[in-house]
Amino acid sequence: MTSNQDWIRRSEQVFIKTYNRFPATMVKGKGCKLWDADDNEYLDFLSGIAVCSLGHSHPAVTDAICQQASSLNHVSNLFHTQKQIELAELLIKNSFADRVFMANSGAEANEAAIKLARIHGGENRYEIISLTGSFHGRTLATVAATGQPQLHKGFEPLPTGFIHAEFGDTKTLEKLITKNTCAILCEPLQGESGVRPLESEYLKSIRQLCDKHGLLLIFDEVQTGMGRTGTLFAYEQLPVVPDIMTVAKALGNGLPIGAMLTTDEIASSFTIGSHASTFGGNPVAAAAAVATLKTMLSNNFLDSVQKTGLYFTEKLNEIAAQFPHIATGVRGNGLLLGLILTDKGIEHGADIVNRLFQKGALINFAGGKVLRFIPPLIVTHQEIDALITVLSEALTELSD
Ligand SMILES: *Cc1c(COP(=O)(O)O)cnc(C)c1O
Repeated sequence: MTSNQDWIRRSEQVFIKTYNRFPATMVKGKGCKLWDADDNEYLDFLSGIAVCSLGHSHPAVTDAICQQASSLNHVSNLFHTQKQIELAELLIKNSFADRVFMANSGAEANEAAIKLARIHGGENRYEIISLTGSFHGRTLATVAATGQPQLHKGFEPLPTGFIHAEFGDTKTLEKLITKNTCAILCEPLQGESGVRPLESEYLKSIRQLCDKHGLLLIFDEVQTGMGRTGTLFAYEQLPVVPDIMTVAKALGNGLPIGAMLTTDEIASSFTIGSHASTFGGNPVAAAAAVATLKTMLSNNFLDSVQKTGLYFTEKLNEIAAQFPHIATGVRGNGLLLGLILTDKGIEHGADIVNRLFQKGALINFAGGKVLRFIPPLIVTHQEIDALITVLSEALTELSD
């Protein structure tokens, strides 16, 4: 029996079955490549779900982690720590925000945003409107905010105060606003449910509704943030600025860390004891995040993400033109891209992902709608060409 299979057999004995994993036990990563326990090599266009944006084992991040781990791993937020301060300063210097709260994950960053919006709203203003198709996390409050009924099923009663507005429809959104509403929460580009961008005009009218009714606009940039769309945050390319923003996924390039960012005025609604986290902004995770941010902010890194994204988009459009019965086009921004599938393509979505896996390329089928490509942001044209070759092979096999 191969060692890959040995590990999988052991894994299947011990875990609660919440994940539908690929049959691979990953042991090593470098750049855009991963290796499993049998030394099979994979071209990674998933990056641990938009997390390892500088690629696996980036030397600057590895050095930062090792250095920090050899001096101080954890003291709790009862104390100030250096890397956490540096990280907050960098986030503030490069965003609309004045203040930061550190968390460990996307869901926790969103929990912090939800609590802040409620306490800022004041008495009886607790309702948060989010959009259908959204994804905000798996804790009870963030799953309630998530506009996907299949993720709620069986967990009711969910926390109250989460209302979902039909994606793209401003009129019904306004009708859902009541005296109890405190915020509108959305991703500037929906990732999990199929790489769906929100149009500029739509976002502008959401911002206007917030201003008209005194609501906070919360952007969940957990997936779109940290350079994924070719600017540090996706809102920088949009005609609106949020009041609160959450980030996580790529913040620590693989170490678990999240953050909630906001203005001085809104931040002042939290006072000492309002909110806390034992691990939030942990020194090692914060050190990784500082190294990640510094790398992303240097040497035209973000410009090259945009250029690479355009190249990849062009190649995916060629695939759509070559296989019109499977794919109709591309959507997304930067290196958060989805190949839009026809009804027939959707039927084969999971199969296409598996065929690519067999050929050593990792992608996923997001929202049961699109093939999602979220490679490390350092991906080269050659690596994109290699992925396109494998994708084309897999789609040709389907057509036979
Ligand atoms: C992944 C994701 C989350 C949840 O992040 P976790 O770290 O898994 O809790 C929240 N919002 C968006 C937009 C995401 O993509």
